[in-house]
Amino acid sequence: MSTARTALVIGGGIAGPVAAMALHRAGIEAVVHEAHRGPADGVGGGLGLAPNGLSALGLVGAEEAVRDIGIPVPAMVMRSWTGKELARFSSADGSPIMHTVWRSDLYRALCDTAERAGVKFVYGTRLKSLQENGSSVTASFVDGTSATADILVGADGVRSTVRGIIDPGAPGPSSTGLVGFGGWSSAKIPHTDGAMNFVFGKRAFFSYTVEPSGRVGWFANLPRKAHMTIADTQAVGMDKWLRLLEDTFTDDRVPAVQILRGSSPDQCVTTGTLEIMRPAPRWHRGRVVLIGDAAHVPSPSSGQGASQAIEGAVHLARCLRDLPVDQAFRAYEGLRRDRVERITTAAERTNRNKAAGPVARVLRDLTMPPIMRLFAKPDQLAWQYDYRIDWDAPVS
Ligand SMILES: Cc1cc2nc3c(=O)[nH]c(=O)nc-3n(C[C@H](O)[C@H](O)[C@H](O)COP(=O)(O)OP(=O)(O)OC[C@H]3O[C@@H](n4cnc5c(N)ncnc54)[C@H](O)[C@@H]3O)c2cc1C
Repeated sequence: MSTARTALVIGGGIAGPVAAMALHRAGIEAVVHEAHRGPADGVGGGLGLAPNGLSALGLVGAEEAVRDIGIPVPAMVMRSWTGKELARFSSADGSPIMHTVWRSDLYRALCDTAERAGVKFVYGTRLKSLQENGSSVTASFVDGTSATADILVGADGVRSTVRGIIDPGAPGPSSTGLVGFGGWSSAKIPHTDGAMNFVFGKRAFFSYTVEPSGRVGWFANLPRKAHMTIADTQAVGMDKWLRLLEDTFTDDRVPAVQILRGSSPDQCVTTGTLEIMRPAPRWHRGRVVLIGDAAHVPSPSSGQGASQAIEGAVHLARCLRDLPVDQAFRAYEGLRRDRVERITTAAERTNRNKAAGPVARVLRDLTMPPIMRLFAKPDQLAWQYDYRIDWDAPVS
């Protein structure tokens, strides 16, 4: 197969715009097709961008734009339900260990930066099917339009249509057994020096931070066996969830209840059941390749979903810059699969601790403090956070 000159990118979330910018940098013209009518249409909640993700954004000229909208987090502190500090993670040089950012702001910043770099977006075009011939691939959209290019990049997220087309038997995402909530609170609690606190509570998981402005940001993961869509959780009503969360955290010696009482329902979001998907068995077929959540969903507990989507998008462009299409796709998978496997495995462990039942919880509370004392050293996260991509290194 020859090298690619043009690309269709399906999905204008996080991986899509980054891939398009990286492809442009690699000399490949890319057009992004997004199902929604505009950037950030209907996306809520926040996420933490890790230093490895931010660094990869630097390679496509988007790091500054994202830093501008992010809140730097200097440290992460793990706590037990007693409030006891189990471990503290911060960077050796004092730089932020992550940036929290509103998802909608991030999507918009990436799309704006990509558009300024010359990437074309076509909104309201939902991929329906695709057809490959010897030297190109044609995408057909629900609105009746179509487009053709040398390759097609599936950046269409966790429920990827492209994944289903290249491998109809591919397993989809599964439930972590946790339902997600988050919001802002006007509670007056002692400041945390910007640190993000992660509390393995008696019955659920709670995270909070106090911003420099004094505003408190929080999120909670509530164990729930039944799968709930966002619509399901919204139908319950946020006021009811807030009361349930207050009850859930009532025995934990952290300011969770105070924070929840200071939150009004309209300042909160629910994300439904949180999902996880081990890296898909097949990442490419012919002229079609998957990136981001379409290929792997390490679950929100990894704190790496967006950062891995960004790293993968940049690596894919490097591979396509240097190699014919078929070899480029193989090289891309070779560079990525082990890393996302490892990150997903670590997140599965965290999810089990968050969703521990009564017996497992007793065991967890007994074993976690000594394990954290022994192993939770600041450099434990170095393999994730210190990862850097050398754009100029040739891919062979
Ligand atoms: C509650 C929650 C918290 C999270 N917290 C973190 C965190 O702290 N840190 C972190 O790094 N990650 C986090 N993540 C994960 C992160 O959001 C994802 O990994 C990331 O958004 C993946 O980017 P993506 O571009 O692959 O997919 P998406 O961001 O989902 O983008 C996919 C895009 O494709 C479009 N699309 C879908 N189907 C089609 C189609 N057929 N045709 C055209 N367009 C289509 C969609 O409209 C969407 O815009 C979290 C996720 C959740 C749910």
